Amino acid sequence: MHCLEDYRGTVGDDVIAGIHAKARHLLGRRVLHVNSTYQGGGVAEMLASLVPIMNDTGVDADWRILLGNTDFFQVTKKFHNAMQGGPINLTRRKKEQYENTNKAFASWAQLDRDVVVIHDPQPLPLIRYFKKRQPWIWRCHIDITDANPELWDYLKGFLLRYDMMLVSHPDYLHSDLAVPQRIVHPAIDPLSAKNIELRPAEIDRLLAKQGVPRGKPLVTQISRFDPWKDPLGVIEAFKLVREEVDCRLVLCGSMAADDPEGLVVYQEVARKARKLVESGDVILIAQDSPSSFINALQRASTVLVQKSTREGFGLTVAEGMWKGKPVVASRVGGIPLQITHGETGFLVEPHDIQATAEQIITLLRDTQLRANIGEQAREAIRANFLTTRLLDDYLDVLTTLL
Ligand code: UDP
Repeated sequence: MHCLEDYRGTVGDDVIAGIHAKARHLLGRRVLHVNSTYQGGGVAEMLASLVPIMNDTGVDADWRILLGNTDFFQVTKKFHNAMQGGPINLTRRKKEQYENTNKAFASWAQLDRDVVVIHDPQPLPLIRYFKKRQPWIWRCHIDITDANPELWDYLKGFLLRYDMMLVSHPDYLHSDLAVPQRIVHPAIDPLSAKNIELRPAEIDRLLAKQGVPRGKPLVTQISRFDPWKDPLGVIEAFKLVREEVDCRLVLCGSMAADDPEGLVVYQEVARKARKLVESGDVILIAQDSPSSFINALQRASTVLVQKSTREGFGLTVAEGMWKGKPVVASRVGGIPLQITHGETGFLVEPHDIQATAEQIITLLRDTQLRANIGEQAREAIRANFLTTRLLDDYLDVLTTLL
């Protein structure tokens, strides 16, 4: 476990002292984070880093997982998709499934803390099943710019009880919601196994262990197998790249416990890419990979891709940039907050396969460009998207509410 001072070398003493100064007013206050999976996806990734260092400041931080069965997660994945603009048939059965799982959890979980932070829609209704004794925060990690109106209206029925909503992007603020709202950008942990420096021999070892061959440049997208991450679009772009430059594509995605769509999307990808997989040009990895492997894969890749069509923030973008890699990513959601086009990476329109391929080809052919972009990318992440800044933001929010 890291203590806050371990980050001195990365962010400087002033940042660390500033955090301790803010936490001084909150010593011993008890904060509880609730989400719906301990692994897979960005929320679990962030909580695993944030909660321990929040504790280290003297605030009492805790983390609980809402327990749900497959039916529940099927409903909440539909909600997730509809919150990102997809259609939904909002039946009474879905609402019951959603509410009853939260109600059951509330019958055994104790949430008697000074502040409760609920992450994403899955545990949102919990607030209705507790006698409210403290401020509640809803931390929304998804892109809700075009949230399905019927679903949004239904969820507002729970949201109105909250004391604050936190979103990742100014576009996600909702003027029709009479609840205080703030923007808090997500962040990555530079000291986690996912992001810590690795020696070249260690990178080689980790890739060999997972059977990823070297010898050709790797173009990689790391993402859950989810339609919004557009893995099929990545394959289409790769086919164009492959006509110009000899390289390999790696699509690596774990199955998040709260995302039942993963297997279906993976199977479709495997079918569409069958020939490329057989020839060894495309490598599909669909399992829970250790963080150290993801780290090594990002570092071993020549170009990283994030071809999402919606993206609440996109931690994988920050992870790649922090490793000094050029990232070619869609101009959607939280991605343009991270990448300045042509300076710290490249942005493409979300459905533009041709432009995606051209950017990847340009980068594969130009070592100096990759180095320049990578260096600036790393500094952009250091300035804005490290976990110490996220902690600092949370301390501000807690100060406001307590
Ligand atoms: N991730 C992982 N293994 C995988 C795929 C993803 O560890 O096979 C991690 C990835 O490194 C990142 C997080 O899961 O830390 C994904 O966060 P992001 O914000 O990019 O997307 P989300 O899944 O939350 O939509």
